[in-house]
Amino acid sequence: MGKVIAIANQKGGVGKTTSSVNLSACLAFLGNKVLLVDIDPQGNATSGVGVNKADVENCVYNVLVEDMEAEKVLVSTAVDNLDVIPATIQLAGAEIELVPTISREVRLKKAIDSVKDNYDYVIIDCPPSLGLLTLNSLTAADTVLIPVQCEYYALEGLSQLLNTIRLVQKHLNKHLMIEGVLLTMLDARTNLGIQVIEEVKKYFQDKVYQSIIPRNVRLGEAPSYGQPIIIYDPKSRGAEVYLDLAKEVMAHGQRVGERS
Ligand code: ADP
Ligand code: MG
Repeated sequence: MGKVIAIANQKGGVGKTTSSVNLSACLAFLGNKVLLVDIDPQGNATSGVGVNKADVENCVYNVLVEDMEAEKVLVSTAVDNLDVIPATIQLAGAEIELVPTISREVRLKKAIDSVKDNYDYVIIDCPPSLGLLTLNSLTAADTVLIPVQCEYYALEGLSQLLNTIRLVQKHLNKHLMIEGVLLTMLDARTNLGIQVIEEVKKYFQDKVYQSIIPRNVRLGEAPSYGQPIIIYDPKSRGAEVYLDLAKEVMAHGQRVGERS
């Protein structure tokens, strides 16, 4: 049974999609069967693994709103061992269309539960909000991985996210745990980065990954080629660090409760 990890932070531009795409691809590269679930209407994770959104017939919208089977929507990617449930702009309406529906928060969970036995990991790329799409993700997930950008006010807004996680634990998914906190876009030339690392470690302690993602030009370029970094430039620093992260995630345990 696969472990389901939601990558969430309601702030935009902190590296959720970059981390979803590259953690998924690196886990797959290391021999795991991986399903990437794109639940952001922008569909950047979908195009980031080389799926052309214009060619997508059915997407996660059909699963959430029309009860289509996940199996019918997922597609394979050019990366061995990596499948994706794509998102298109059609998903933008789901946040509102789901409001009056029955069991609106558990729709993604039902879909993922129906396929997760086929995978070692299911990675969900969340949108930059704490709305119904993110609630569906946190309800479907075993754990949540929180990317935090190395910048001023890095911790700002995180109490809101942690509060949402507590509410989900109380009402929707009592087993949800924090997988880890990932520092992203570190500019090693500045003191600011070092200060932020200290601040975030003080707050989250051993939940912070040893792997810290540097600001890396190749990581920024890879999406426009529809390639994860491990394919686009396997020798780059970005590829190295996302591989290290994948190894850390694997060491945390395959299933809930196995985390050391
Ligand atoms: P989010 O999904 O949280 O909105 P993204 O992963 O889309 O954030 O990242 C925002 C932008 O920053 C994107 O253009 C992405 O390519 C770029 N980016 C993300 N991580 C890095 C990095 N480590 N180095 C350079 N550019 C990055
Ligand atoms: Mg994103």
